[in-house]
Amino acid sequence: MAKLHHVISADQFNPEISEKIFEEAERIRGADENSLKDILKNKSIVLLFWESSTRTFLSFYNAILKLGGFPIPILNAGKFSSAIKGESLKDTIRTCADLKADGIIMRHDKEGSAKVAAETLDIYAPKVCLLNAGDGKGEHPTQMLLDVYTLWRMKKEELKKGKLTGALVGDLRDSRVLHSDAKALLKYKTRLILISEKGNDLPPEITAEIKKEKIDYVRTDDIEKFAQEVDFWIFTRLQLERKGISLKNFRPQLQSKFSQKFGITKELLSKMKKDALLLHPLPRVEEIPEWVDEDKRAIYLSGKENSESQVANGLYLRMALLKIIF
Ligand code: ASP
Repeated sequence: MAKLHHVISADQFNPEISEKIFEEAERIRGADENSLKDILKNKSIVLLFWESSTRTFLSFYNAILKLGGFPIPILNAGKFSSAIKGESLKDTIRTCADLKADGIIMRHDKEGSAKVAAETLDIYAPKVCLLNAGDGKGEHPTQMLLDVYTLWRMKKEELKKGKLTGALVGDLRDSRVLHSDAKALLKYKTRLILISEKGNDLPPEITAEIKKEKIDYVRTDDIEKFAQEVDFWIFTRLQLERKGISLKNFRPQLQSKFSQKFGITKELLSKMKKDALLLHPLPRVEEIPEWVDEDKRAIYLSGKENSESQVANGLYLRMALLKIIF
């Protein structure tokens, strides 16, 4: 495997590279915690977050700690870094490097910002790596890795043989998670059921890639139509902040309309396969009501009936990724 340095896009991963990371995540999951605590010894990693985050921030932070490194959090970076005084992204990145950060994990509201940051490091501090923790409506490659890791754990043979049918549901146009997931799943030849409002489709370049790779796919706004064929579902919330709509004023109406069409109902659940998997990068808003959590197919968080947790997988996956990069 070529050395991983920056992580910017799902384009950098194929099944072979991803599975090396998944295998490392499995080893870490089973390892004695003490054996891990020197892996990032003396490494300082800045968590530079412009946008809000619960899981990505916490799992990276905890992953760094568990591997013996120093996480340096800059939350709400637009306000609490000098960005508020007019500092450019490039200068913020160069400053982190000059102050001897070994890596930067960055979440930003602008698509393409991770690439700009990585290119800045390549010029001024080529040893420092940049991990994209979400760039606007662009991509979220580490969420993709943990989503595919979850599928690999639960349905490994079918995934590897290209025998799975996956439904990507909701906001296909603006969900960076679904962009990265679609790119990765097409490399596994997963059959894709793309479910969204007409006009809220995957970006044209990703659809073009799906066609080029001759992936069997369907595009529909009818969530129930193919329910009996789907092996795994990845739901998303409506990405209102990407649509120039004031969250405060419009959230309730738009969200409920969206959830009624692209969320889980009792009818939908009864039509799904008995062994289907229900994933969601979270946060959920109303697309997955809490009563679904007790269904054993729900694996976004660990439930009473099911200990598999996409969120927990995110911790091991990010530990593995950091270990491999450093
Ligand atoms: N947490 C994910 C992200 O940052 C999903 C979402 O916000 O809808 O993209």
